[in-house]
Amino acid sequence: MANLDHVSNVTPLIDIRNVSRSFPKANGEDLLVLDHVDLTIRPGEIVGLLGRSGSGKSTLLRIIAGLSKPSTGDALCRGETIAGPPKGVAMVFQSFALFPWLTVQQNVELGLEALGVDAVTREARAEAAIDLIGLGGFENAYPKELSGGMRQRVGFARALVVHPDLMLMDEPFSALDVLTAETLRTDIIDLWTEGRLPMKSVLIVTHNIEEAVLMCDRILVFSSNPGRIAAEIKVELPHPRNRLDPRFRALVDSI
Ligand code: ADP
Ligand code: MG
Repeated sequence: MANLDHVSNVTPLIDIRNVSRSFPKANGEDLLVLDHVDLTIRPGEIVGLLGRSGSGKSTLLRIIAGLSKPSTGDALCRGETIAGPPKGVAMVFQSFALFPWLTVQQNVELGLEALGVDAVTREARAEAAIDLIGLGGFENAYPKELSGGMRQRVGFARALVVHPDLMLMDEPFSALDVLTAETLRTDIIDLWTEGRLPMKSVLIVTHNIEEAVLMCDRILVFSSNPGRIAAEIKVELPHPRNRLDPRFRALVDSI
């Protein structure tokens, strides 16, 4: 057995403590969306968040991404309160969230601009990320010229280009038709397996159990109304980074 004692001593990358979030309703009452949620992500972990539509998953991700704030409780990144988008945290949005007036290249470079990376390095890194994700040759296209699957590839490239310490994925395949989703999911898992995705930790929101089991080493099950972590499941399959391990193939083939 590997000695994992040191892991618990590492400052968590993300520490969500007792976080609740409500939104005002039209009738003046508050809608409680997140109810005393605790969640810790340690460096290197691949965590899945599984829950019904409307259970508050995106709200939680937005808090971690610094796009929203808890009503009560603490949201910390590397021990510090999250006050805006934390350094090293990138997000792939369900609805792609590309800027329509920017080209593929410009959309992907955006994440690096915020980090103050110089123009020459930005261009080279964006091109590498675009190639990696299978969009080589589309650098100068605009989002409206691309299919949904290609747009989400841009979303992945924009997040990956920063080599994130934590990649947040909010149902990244759910806005795509079934076949496109399957192709992109397979491509992402293959690249991940080959160790070619430059991300260290991942929090992926999904309502697809198979996807969660295939990708994560820990799955949090979210209950609805209000959102609460109801169960935690440890996945015993090796996560994608270890899938070159022949035991994984044997296991999958035996299912
Ligand atoms: P999920 O991602 O699990 O589908 P969300 O976090 O998007 O759930 O939403 C949870 C609930 O919070 C929904 O009822 C949604 O309408 C509500 N909600 C989310 N964001 C806002 C907002 N900015 N203003 C008001 N209500 C919101
Ligand atoms: Mg959502």
